[in-house]
Amino acid sequence: MANFDGIVVGAGVAGSTTAALLSRQGFRVLLVEKATFPREKICGEGLMPAGARILDELGILSELRAQGAQAFSGIHFHLPRDRCLELNFGEISPTAQGWVVPRMILDESLARFAERQPGVQLREAFRVLSAQTGPSQVEVTGLYQGQLQTHRARLLIGADGIRSRFHNGFGIHRRKRRTRRFALRTFYDQLQGTGMVEVHCCEAGEAYVAPMGKRSARITLLLFGTPHRPRGAALSDLYFEKLGLFPRLMKRLKSPYPQGPVQSTGAVSLEVSRCHGHRLLLVGDAAGAVDPVTGQGMTVALKDAQLACRFLKERLHEDRLSEQDLCEYTRARNDYFRPSFQLAQMLLCVIQYPFLARQTLKALSRNHALRQKVLTLATTLGAGSFLNGRDRLHLLLGM
Ligand SMILES: Cc1cc2nc3c(=O)[nH]c(=O)nc-3n(C[C@H](O)[C@H](O)[C@H](O)COP(=O)(O)OP(=O)(O)OC[C@H]3O[C@@H](n4cnc5c(N)ncnc54)[C@H](O)[C@@H]3O)c2cc1C
Repeated sequence: MANFDGIVVGAGVAGSTTAALLSRQGFRVLLVEKATFPREKICGEGLMPAGARILDELGILSELRAQGAQAFSGIHFHLPRDRCLELNFGEISPTAQGWVVPRMILDESLARFAERQPGVQLREAFRVLSAQTGPSQVEVTGLYQGQLQTHRARLLIGADGIRSRFHNGFGIHRRKRRTRRFALRTFYDQLQGTGMVEVHCCEAGEAYVAPMGKRSARITLLLFGTPHRPRGAALSDLYFEKLGLFPRLMKRLKSPYPQGPVQSTGAVSLEVSRCHGHRLLLVGDAAGAVDPVTGQGMTVALKDAQLACRFLKERLHEDRLSEQDLCEYTRARNDYFRPSFQLAQMLLCVIQYPFLARQTLKALSRNHALRQKVLTLATTLGAGSFLNGRDRLHLLLGM
């Protein structure tokens, strides 16, 4: 017998929000997480205004502010040869703000928020080892306190991130990545912030500066290709070498050698063939991860949780959870997030060619309507706004 309506695997942004929202619809949910909070996650940590609005609706934004989250008013792009562009969220809505929230704080707050909901049981340090979906229930087995434990439910939700264990099984396949990228990040003291997230671009990739306080920042490098590190070389040496690609930023750092530990990842984006199976739904990065170039991953994860819970409401009540019943979700998700994925694809293409980057900058400085469209797309995830062929042409031609 199933003892839960749903088991959510992974208590990141997507999983905790999904568990909390399902519980608000009256369902019993087991939320399992392999780590113990607080836990780290490699991320630029800039949450766009649409994501901040969802946290506000859930009632946890004020808690995050009290824990030191920093507001930012827009994005400042820096291109080589001192070219720059400011995109201010205030141009779209006077109240729109993004927030820089350390993931150690955000993810724990969301997990505790989910745990406070009456229908949710959170189990940390539970590593899922296997999952099976049967005709009327699903079964998840994991390692918890050195023992194997099995739980059953009517539905399984995979929210276990970009390296989800639900890929390449359940009829869900990873698509080959079009662009190889890797990320390195660390923390710097003594960097005067501007109240905006800064994006420094060069042909090799981008450096993101997320202000963490008055005089400190997280700097994440996102670069094309794969990292080559001589045997025995420290990650901080690789970081220092790559930071040299952004001389203007490097000059602003009192001491440019990494001041905190350097973390790296080679998985930054993902496309999957579908995000449903029999009694199975994927949410967040597990269902497809947008490249961090748009800074929208966490917002997508939060919105995805909302979409999934709305989609599941009737179906979970009526136990209509077959592959056929859930297939509409893949289409709805793809349609909703297509503009974000397209914007990311276009930005990645532009960044690699300095001429195109300059043209795009020109277009965004001159063409007010286009600028508004791009800003709306960046701040709202594209609801009602997408770049048509003409817009893309104008961006590439600098018109
Ligand atoms: C370098 C980089 C920079 C980024 N910058 C930004 C940014 O500035 N702004 C932004 O909005 N987004 C950014 N993103 C994207 C963002 O980090 C992700 O989109 C977001 O974390 C997705 O959340 P999630 O809940 O789907 O997955 P995750 O946050 O990855 O959570 C998955 C959870 O599942 C757990 N888990 C995994 N396997 C198991 C298992 N077997 N059993 C139990 N639990 C398991 C993990 O421990 C984890 O807690 C960035 C990403 C990268 C790589």
